[in-house]
Amino acid sequence: NNLAETFITIRVLGEGGFGIVKLVKSRKDGQLFAVKSFKQTSNTAQALQLAEKEIALLKTLAHPNIVGFHGMGFDQKERYIILEYCAGGDLRSMISDAASQRKPIPHHRIQSIFCQMLLALHYCHHSYKGLRQTLLHRDLKPENVLLNAAGQVKVADFGLAKVMANGLTVTTSFVGTSGYLPPELVAGQPYDHKADIFNLGCILFELCTLRVPDHALRGVQRAREFLLPAGHSAQMNSLVPMLLSIEPARRPSTADLLATPAIACWLQMPW
Ligand code: ADP
Ligand code: MG
Ligand code: MG
Repeated sequence: NNLAETFITIRVLGEGGFGIVKLVKSRKDGQLFAVKSFKQTSNTAQALQLAEKEIALLKTLAHPNIVGFHGMGFDQKERYIILEYCAGGDLRSMISDAASQRKPIPHHRIQSIFCQMLLALHYCHHSYKGLRQTLLHRDLKPENVLLNAAGQVKVADFGLAKVMANGLTVTTSFVGTSGYLPPELVAGQPYDHKADIFNLGCILFELCTLRVPDHALRGVQRAREFLLPAGHSAQMNSLVPMLLSIEPARRPSTADLLATPAIACWLQMPW
C-alpha cells in the first residue's frame, strides 16, 4: 500500500549512504514512526535487495537497545521499512552539538551510552538466535547509534550486518566506513566480532574527546600511555586504548567487558 495512504510525512530525520529516513505519523492513530526508504543509487533491483536484506535481519532482532522494527510496505514499487522513532537523534548530532558549544558530554552520560551499546552488541555477538549464530554489525559509528525521547540508546542501521556461525571469521567482504575501519580490515586480514569492538572504541573515543578518530587515533594505539581529557576516570582511560588495540586478540569481547568490575559497576547505576 501507498505510504501516503497510511502515514502523513512530517520531515526528513536523516540520510545515510543508502537510505533516507523520514518522520511519519499514522493516519489511523497518530502514532509516530521513522520510515526508511532506499536511494535509487544505480538501479531499483539493487535498492530492493538492500532493503530486503535489512528487513530480514531486523525481523530477527529484539533487544531494548536495538531500534524496533514495526513492519514494511511498498510505495511505487519501492520498499520502505517502518522503524521505532528515535526522537533524541543520533550520536553524531550529540557529539557535534557538544563540540560546537564546547561543552563536554557528562561522564555519567558517556558511561550510560557505552553500557547500552555494549548490551546491544553483546546480544548480537552472543545471544543472537541462541549461541549457534552471531551477528556482526560492521557499521557501528555515531550516525548509526540513536537515542529515543527518554535518551535510551537504540543501535540502528543493520544494512551491512552479517550473520555467521559462531566462531567463524569473515575473510573477504570489505565493508564499513573509512575512518572507522579496524586495522585488520585495512590490512586485508580476516576479521570477526572484534571489528565491532574496535568501532565501539572509536565511538567511546569520540564521546570523550569530541574528536573524530583519525590519524590521532593511530597515535593513541601506539602510545599506550594515552590520556583522555582531564577528569575521566582511570577505568575510562584504560578502557579506550584497550578497545582500540591494533591486535584484535588484545581487544576484550563483550563478555570480557561485562565481567570487568568497573563496567559491572556502571551497569548498576540508576540511569
Ligand atoms: P543508511 O543505511 O543510509 O546509513 P540509516 O539507517 O543509518 O541509513 O539512517 C540514516 C540516518 O537517519 C541516521 O544516521 C539517523 O540520523 C536517521 N535515522 C535513522 N533511523 C532513525 C530512527 N528510527 N529514528 C530517528 N532517526 C533515524
Ligand atoms: Mg547509517
Ligand atoms: Mg546502512
